[in-house]
Amino acid sequence: MRIFTSILFSFFILSSIAQNDTERLMAAMLGETPIEEDLQELCDEIGGRVTGSEANEKSVEWGCRKFKEAKVKVRKQAFEMPVLWLPESTKAKVSGAAEFVPSIVAKYQTPPGNYKAKLVDAGTGTEEEVKKLGASVKDNFLLVEMDLCLDIPGLFAEYEAATKAEMAAEKYGARGIVFMASRPRGLLYRFITHKATDNTMPQFVMVREDAKRCLRTIREGKPLDIEISISAKTGDSFKSENVIAEIKGSEKPDEVVIIGAHLDSWAMGTGANDNGCNVAMMIDIARQMKKLGIKPKRTIRFALWNGEEQGYFGSWAYNKEQGDKLDKHIMALSIDIGSGALSGFFTNGREELIPILEEVLQPVEGLGDFTHLNVPIVGTDNFDFMLEGVPNLVGNHLSASYGINYHASSDTFDKVDLKSLKRNSAIVAVLTLGFANLDENKYPLQRQSREEIQAIFDKNKLEFTMRMFNVWEPWISRARGRVE
Ligand SMILES: [Zn+2]
Repeated sequence: MRIFTSILFSFFILSSIAQNDTERLMAAMLGETPIEEDLQELCDEIGGRVTGSEANEKSVEWGCRKFKEAKVKVRKQAFEMPVLWLPESTKAKVSGAAEFVPSIVAKYQTPPGNYKAKLVDAGTGTEEEVKKLGASVKDNFLLVEMDLCLDIPGLFAEYEAATKAEMAAEKYGARGIVFMASRPRGLLYRFITHKATDNTMPQFVMVREDAKRCLRTIREGKPLDIEISISAKTGDSFKSENVIAEIKGSEKPDEVVIIGAHLDSWAMGTGANDNGCNVAMMIDIARQMKKLGIKPKRTIRFALWNGEEQGYFGSWAYNKEQGDKLDKHIMALSIDIGSGALSGFFTNGREELIPILEEVLQPVEGLGDFTHLNVPIVGTDNFDFMLEGVPNLVGNHLSASYGINYHASSDTFDKVDLKSLKRNSAIVAVLTLGFANLDENKYPLQRQSREEIQAIFDKNKLEFTMRMFNVWEPWISRARGRVE
């Protein structure tokens, strides 16, 4: 009886320590921390950080320094990027029935050079519309109308419409595509094409108002030509680096919970909502855990991924590096949808994560109204963890100003919702510690087999979405993801 009482007593002490840690961590995250100063430094002083650029290299050093200053163990993980493409300038001139200089920007991996062709009105760029144009498509530039994109669903719709237009352009032999910008008032932004690093077709985004002017003229039956000259620094494969920090687990150091945000950005703006704000969050969580002397049961890793925008190359490299050690990764979380309030988490086909989320988020219930969605997300750094069968999550946020400024020249520090970012940091910190201390008897989390992963893709009809980001083929050919 005495033994039982003392076991019971130590259980209460242990659980109250755990409780204490969570509460202390939450209070620290909500209290004064340097998260805002860090973000401002990253955005305003280092600026946009395209992988392969000098600013990107500076940001890697900056990230390492921040973890070191917080006395958190950190390393750089080098990996190979397949191609270099750093845009310099893109200039265009419209001639014919109207002559003017439209504002235009190249999509990722547009080959540098000078292009001259007729502009052909391709409507919204569906296969039926392009097919109807007949011989006029061949060797000319399609001008593709885009719906307004004002929020996150709008972004996915834009990726889908653009992919369909690209496929039609390829099929009917267009020289290239000029997309109407999906955001109004002269805003430009950078997108990847559905062939990503393998793209060879010149593709551009033209200011919405200029593109509408072209369309109105063409629709009057008055033809227009376009001349475009683009310069970019290009090259073969090159080395990039992730920043990986960690706090060692006290009981199960070989078991890992990894949370991450990508350090790289497009450089039209300064990568504030995408994704500087969540890089600053990762650093702040590590810093507060260390400062409070929190000793999680499992190891917690904090990843600042690189090469995300070109196809999640940094997180893919991490997965390749870890190999069999992924068996002991119990959860991988990506935060990459800006600074709007966290509204829950995507569980990416792993329904068993929902009750765990409900439990670990109990201490932060007052900070949000969470709904978790068992939808698989393709388009950020959870992707290779999903392909490797590691239980993975993506934070879901209210749209706030994310959609309209996405990859645009307007993605700057002033667009970040700093209040929500603080709340989000507390939520993610508590969630992370919750997973690191999770009772494995209550919640055994297993790595999935290739068959189980494929079943998620089949059930959610994910093939087209994966093709939109050039990641279906590598999965099918087993160049990427779990082989068995
Ligand atoms: Zn992002």
